[in-house]
Amino acid sequence: MNPLIIIGAGLAGWTTAREFRKLDASTPVVLITADSGDFYAKPSLSNAFAQRRTPVQLISTPAATLAQNLNVTLMAHGRVNALDVAGRTVQFTQDGTTHTLAYHRLVLATGAHPIRVPLQGDAADQVQSVNSLADFSRFHSVLNPHATGADSSENNSKTVVILGAGLIGCEFANDLALAGHQVHVADPAQRPLAALLPEAASLQLRTALAAAGVHWHLGTTVQAVDAAAPSPTEARPLRVRLADGSTLAADAVLSAIGLRADTTLAHAAGLACERGIVVDATLQTSTDHVYALGDCAQYASAGGRTLPFVMPIMAAARALAATLAGTPTPLVFALMPVSVKTPALPVVVAAAHPSQAGQWVADPGCDDGVWRFLDTVGTQRGFVLTGPHTAQRAAFSKATAP
Ligand SMILES: Cc1cc2nc3c(=O)[nH]c(=O)nc-3n(C[C@H](O)[C@H](O)[C@H](O)COP(=O)(O)OP(=O)(O)OC[C@H]3O[C@@H](n4cnc5c(N)ncnc54)[C@H](O)[C@@H]3O)c2cc1C
Repeated sequence: MNPLIIIGAGLAGWTTAREFRKLDASTPVVLITADSGDFYAKPSLSNAFAQRRTPVQLISTPAATLAQNLNVTLMAHGRVNALDVAGRTVQFTQDGTTHTLAYHRLVLATGAHPIRVPLQGDAADQVQSVNSLADFSRFHSVLNPHATGADSSENNSKTVVILGAGLIGCEFANDLALAGHQVHVADPAQRPLAALLPEAASLQLRTALAAAGVHWHLGTTVQAVDAAAPSPTEARPLRVRLADGSTLAADAVLSAIGLRADTTLAHAAGLACERGIVVDATLQTSTDHVYALGDCAQYASAGGRTLPFVMPIMAAARALAATLAGTPTPLVFALMPVSVKTPALPVVVAAAHPSQAGQWVADPGCDDGVWRFLDTVGTQRGFVLTGPHTAQRAAFSKATAP
């Protein structure tokens, strides 16, 4: 029998393999991935600096161990170039050789790409994004040029300019500030997490991160990044120009303005793609025998949304494994609150569907730490908790309608 082929070794790819093996010990599984396949928790990338963890220390299970434990044939550093969904084959290149492999069923778990805005300046190509362990390694080596694999105790303060005050931008800002770096965050909005939080919660976060040392540049954008001429007074190698006319000297610039589902292979193969690879309730794409989940997928079960978070991936992988093992299982998402990893002000947010009409209402007598999203008939459809109120996450989840 041709194997089940999984493309991608992130949380979605490996969790699908693990859940599938719980139900089916014998069907051959091949996992093809462009990276090393080593398993790491991606959320830890945005709180590793304060804990002085190196990229190597973030790997929880080496790829070879995982592949052996799950009886999976791993094609690491293999990039899939094309899918032939009519002939049911994938074409991939590994070590300079191109292979074609037939599948019985195919799972796309190709993740997402960081969105980048075009910037002016002769050092615009030095702007970094962090959406993988390899990205994190590059960023880490700029901030800790002398760190070795096991020791990240280097303590020389650098200056980092972050583009974007969304979830990832705020988490990195807090983490880098805690690690002793100078942090500047620029965003066209007037407050962090503006698209996600009610205004008062967002202003709390702005104040808390400022108290933690984050310098805000709100209502403006980064326009250019240039190499700075070496001078006796300025050792920082980059000069960042903002639309408000100010300039900042920096050691590193991090772009954190969002992710876009990676639909490259699916699109080229003629599968339906919109904001992500379109999948139905059983995670099947527009073509038989081909499935998708994780950051690359756009879920019918989520009202046509992409859900680039851990909890949806775990739920999707369990449902998909059951379907692949012979029991078609529609995916039903429970409410999945997201914790924002900003120790300066912990935040839990359960967002309603973007098309849901309603308004944020603050709970009276809660020191402004509790907000409920109420629909037009007063049913709770989402919530935001900050600071000590985040401990009530479970109770609020129960009280929220899907
Ligand atoms: C800094 C950061 C912090 C986060 N924190 C949180 C958090 O606190 N809570 C939360 O819920 N979520 C968080 N997230 C989101 C969460 O980590 C992601 O939703 C999840 O890890 C995505 O997993 P994935 O497997 O879908 O994609 P990825 O991890 O991106 O994996 C994609 C895989 O596909 C492979 N691939 C792609 N194209 C090809 C190809 N052509 N051929 C072969 N292989 C290919 C890649 O090599 C990779 O192995 C965070 C994300 C980031 C970046």
